[in-house]
Amino acid sequence: MALIELKNIRKVYKQGELQTEVLKGIDLQIEKGEFVAIMGPSGSGKSTLMYILGCLDKPTSGEYYLNGKNVLELSDDELSKIRGKYIGFIFQAFYLVPYLTVLDNVILPVEYLDPAYKKKLFKNKSPEEKGKEILSKLGMKERIYFKPDQLSGGQKQRTAIARALINSPEVILADEPTGQLDSASGKAVMEIFSNLNKEGKTIIVVTHDPVTASYAKRIIKLEDGKVVQ
Ligand code: ADP
Ligand code: ADP
Repeated sequence: MALIELKNIRKVYKQGELQTEVLKGIDLQIEKGEFVAIMGPSGSGKSTLMYILGCLDKPTSGEYYLNGKNVLELSDDELSKIRGKYIGFIFQAFYLVPYLTVLDNVILPVEYLDPAYKKKLFKNKSPEEKGKEILSKLGMKERIYFKPDQLSGGQKQRTAIARALINSPEVILADEPTGQLDSASGKAVMEIFSNLNKEGKTIIVVTHDPVTASYAKRIIKLEDGKVVQ
């Protein structure tokens, strides 16, 4: 069974009278442990697809199975539980909370977990301990009590990666993760994804940058709302 299976996913945005079909029937399977890049020109529907994959948005029609569960049959509440358990997000713009330290940013998603699941996940190790461990692994040991504005772009993105990892998600979803980084920091971030993938994490990166995509083991090309390759 594939970790992610999309069948004939369509997304239509309605603005008054105007209807735009942004995804025009996407069929896609992603296995556990894959490292996939979703590429395509601006406006091809990459972000829309990523929001659907991340259970942040629902398609207009189609089927989405995540680990065998039909995501589209879930209530918003169940959807947010699934999201907390399975998915770690990384965005181009980092979205760190400016007044929190690196460590507090990293452990923030723990607060939004279902309480029963949180208890289970952090039975042996507190979120703080786990956060420090992940940050150390990412070369951020000396920065855990810094605030985001004291960090370089690469350090901000490593903080965001640690935050995406805190709840041990099955899948890491990254939207243009190197978009705001110089090429050296961008490569360092992609090396981190490669290492996480070697440890078994499923990684999905949305990007228009061929260098960023070259770290993936499979490239899915979107064009005008369809998978073309
Ligand atoms: P990409 O990430 O490949 O640039 P997007 O998924 O962001 O593509 O957008 C695809 C198309 O959908 C664009 O034409 C965009 O204008 C349109 N679109 C995206 N979000 C909305 C929205 N909330 N309402 C209306 N149109 C949207
Ligand atoms: P694992 O993936 O560790 O095998 P399971 O999915 O089998 O975990 O769940 C183990 C227990 O944890 C179950 O009793 C389940 O109800 C509970 N659980 C797992 N995920 C959540 C969640 N997101 N919210 C609430 N309870 C959860």
